[in-house]
Amino acid sequence: MVNLKNRHTLSLQASCNNLYEVENIQDLDSLDLDHQHYFVLGGGSNVAFVEDFDGDIVTFTNKQLSITENDDSWLIETGAGVVWHDLVLQVTQKGIGGLENLALIPGNCGAAAVQNIGAYGVEFSALCKGVQTVNIKTKEIKELTNPECCFGYRNSIFKSTAGSDLLVTKICLQLPKKWTAKLTYQGLDSLTTGATPLSVMNKVIEIRQSKLPDPAKLANAGSFFKNPVVTAEVACVLKERYPEMPTYHQDKNGVKLSSGWLIEKAGFKGKKVDSIGTYEKHALVIVNYGQGSGQTLLRFVRDIKEQVRDLFSVTLENEVLLIGKNGVINL
Ligand code: NAP
Repeated sequence: MVNLKNRHTLSLQASCNNLYEVENIQDLDSLDLDHQHYFVLGGGSNVAFVEDFDGDIVTFTNKQLSITENDDSWLIETGAGVVWHDLVLQVTQKGIGGLENLALIPGNCGAAAVQNIGAYGVEFSALCKGVQTVNIKTKEIKELTNPECCFGYRNSIFKSTAGSDLLVTKICLQLPKKWTAKLTYQGLDSLTTGATPLSVMNKVIEIRQSKLPDPAKLANAGSFFKNPVVTAEVACVLKERYPEMPTYHQDKNGVKLSSGWLIEKAGFKGKKVDSIGTYEKHALVIVNYGQGSGQTLLRFVRDIKEQVRDLFSVTLENEVLLIGKNGVINL
């Protein structure tokens, strides 16, 4: 049995049967992996092990990094094991723009592709040229182009059945040399047109540090729920009842709501049950104050979903993957 407490940032007590750290694709040949029950783990920042997992875990640790250029773009290739924020720091400190809005997102580069991470109006998918994968069962290596990754809101092919055997081994980013700052989100709009990649990154770091807990100091897995997208009609009805409710119009008639706002309005901001609670400065983040258990977390999450559904008739969907004895748990 391998203890997983330090392998996921929510730090719940849980274990798995075996954990394999793989640095190169060839290393897969020598693994005695349980091919029926396994889970691919990155930095553990978007997953919660709520029970002992009765299977094996594989994690890809390669940290190679190369930066090249052509006339128009910077091309960045990194092993899936590179820490995402370290990459953002390195690239931005060289004066290369494109990654700055995605500073301080926890997790590894491989997970960035799986999750299609996003923040402050920028998504991984907009920067990704392609992803190298290996099929864990057949060992076939395949380079997926951006469209083949089927990126969606915090989603990709790697989260679907079609991609469930694919291990992300390398990501390739293409950052145009012609850079414009993306400053549409509140907090960044105070920066002037003279903004540089470095000044934007520093502002994003400052904002995130002021309202999000550092997983190294207080166990958490970032945003716990996705922001729901509802129809314009539903948004209109809610807006009549709650004029102060933030709404963001999307393409195709959809309106994005803020999960953090809905949870706060349902009375959960700073609420705590045993060692599990929502962060006092941001209701979207669930934290483990120390001895939190998977069962308490599940009860707490169900409670939030129920109250939000009762109050707003809106269903929250987890962004964090819950893993139990037999794999993914859908609440
Ligand atoms: P916020 O300012 O409290 O806003 C709440 C939500 O409203 C955000 O999640 C964001 O959606 C949306 N929003 C805000 N301004 C918007 C705009 N100008 N246009 C479109 N949508 C807008 O946000 P926050 O919770 O502090 O988060 C700020 C950013 O960091 C967001 O982009 C959020 O996704 C990101 N973040 C990510 C994580 C993570 O673990 N993945 C954790 C915390 C924050 P979107 O989420 O769709 O951008």
